[in-house]
Amino acid sequence: MVHIVGAGPGDPELITIRGQKLLSEADVVIYAGSLVNEAILQFCKPEAEIYNSAQMMFEEIMHVISLAERAGKMTVRLHTGDPSIYGAIQEQMDAMQERGIEFDVTPGVSSFLAAAAALKQEYTLPGISQTVIITRRGGRTPVPDSESLKKLAQHQTTLCIFLSVNLLAEVKQDLLSAGFKSSTPIAVVYKASWPGEELILRGRLDTIVNQVKEAKIERTAIIIVGHCLNTKKEDRQMSNLYSPRFSHMFRQSNF
Ligand code: SAH
Repeated sequence: MVHIVGAGPGDPELITIRGQKLLSEADVVIYAGSLVNEAILQFCKPEAEIYNSAQMMFEEIMHVISLAERAGKMTVRLHTGDPSIYGAIQEQMDAMQERGIEFDVTPGVSSFLAAAAALKQEYTLPGISQTVIITRRGGRTPVPDSESLKKLAQHQTTLCIFLSVNLLAEVKQDLLSAGFKSSTPIAVVYKASWPGEELILRGRLDTIVNQVKEAKIERTAIIIVGHCLNTKKEDRQMSNLYSPRFSHMFRQSNF
């Protein structure tokens, strides 16, 4: 049996209880070493076989999994954040299905959520934006033209941009040409939740490129853009959820 597990964004405390349990029972662990915090491997059995997939090709990964299956061992395939977001797990799941290998998936805390926690920010402010777009800028992996950053940004929603901090100058250009003002607030969060390593840069579209250059951030960072980042309390509507004027299933209105 193979368990695909989301390791969370970096802090070992942010793996789920189920993820930690599976990791502590695994005979074989294949972790995405380019991003997973190795401190999380403390949960593994001392005798577990541990592989770093950053140094492996697809077929090698499948080979390790197949050998483990034949030996009746349990494998955890550990991905950073949540495996459904840029985890490249679909091809692995397809290959396992083809080979008749049973697997399941345990979700994880994605880095866009750890970034919100670091920023102490709600992404969905009433009256500002009720939509969060998760995307990346096209680089070595192309993005379909219909969802280019230029097009998506026109909606002026909250944007969480993965895998693109090395393309920040291009990101900025796309956002400007989509109609965002140069004063639009933007944040870059490096290693969100990693103990002792997290770094938060807050700026504007016209300042952030220099800020990131000065901080020498080139990877493991997420870009958050949107008006939610600097709206004042007066600009927002109060959420209906706790409003005395609003009844819902669990509470009657006082009015
Ligand atoms: N599955 C992961 C994303 C993998 S893609 C998730 O759910 O978070 C890798 C990209 O994720 C990085 O380029 C960076 O943009 C982002 N990322 C991963 N971990 C991060 C962290 N701790 N802090 C900030 N960004 C992170």
